[in-house]
Amino acid sequence: MAALFIHTKSMAERTFIAIKPDGVQRGLVGEILGRFERKGFKLVGLKQITPSRALAEQHYGVHKERPFFAGLVDFITSGPVVAMVWEGDGVIASARKLIGATKPLEAEPGTIRGDLAVNIGRNVIHGSDAAETAAFEIGLWFEASELNDWSPSDQEWRVEG
Ligand code: UDP
Ligand code: MG
Repeated sequence: MAALFIHTKSMAERTFIAIKPDGVQRGLVGEILGRFERKGFKLVGLKQITPSRALAEQHYGVHKERPFFAGLVDFITSGPVVAMVWEGDGVIASARKLIGATKPLEAEPGTIRGDLAVNIGRNVIHGSDAAETAAFEIGLWFEASELNDWSPSDQEWRVEG
């Protein structure tokens, strides 16, 4: 039974979220963490890190041919980022909804970018966009030993349906 329980926990969906340097500099860390907590997701990894260029270039590798790539890497490496892994049912897509559209002026009010940002290059937060990118980004930013398996006592209330 115990082994089955551990196995089930390790199958839970996880996503990588990062508060970008603008979010940290503007003092929005608590506001943003609170939105994910209040939604009902579980924090399983959290650290503050100023990314190296190599880390930033790998993280945004999909965009390396785009004209904004160099500026994006410059910015993301300019100061501390708060890197997180959140866990829960449907967390990858749900986090993208909480975050809102990439262009803050197109992000709905009520979303993080809709409420807290105006500039696409300073849109406060990153969230993985699919299962494959979530797995890649979690592995890129975190050691396995930095992620915690734990069970909040109210976990069964957070499952849809
Ligand atoms: N970005 C930018 N200019 C653009 C498109 C994107 O500065 O024309 C930045 C923006 O900060 C965005 C990041 O590059 O968050 C990654 O772009 P992506 O399309 O993956 O958006 P996201 O997944 O962050 O919504
Ligand atoms: Mg993206």
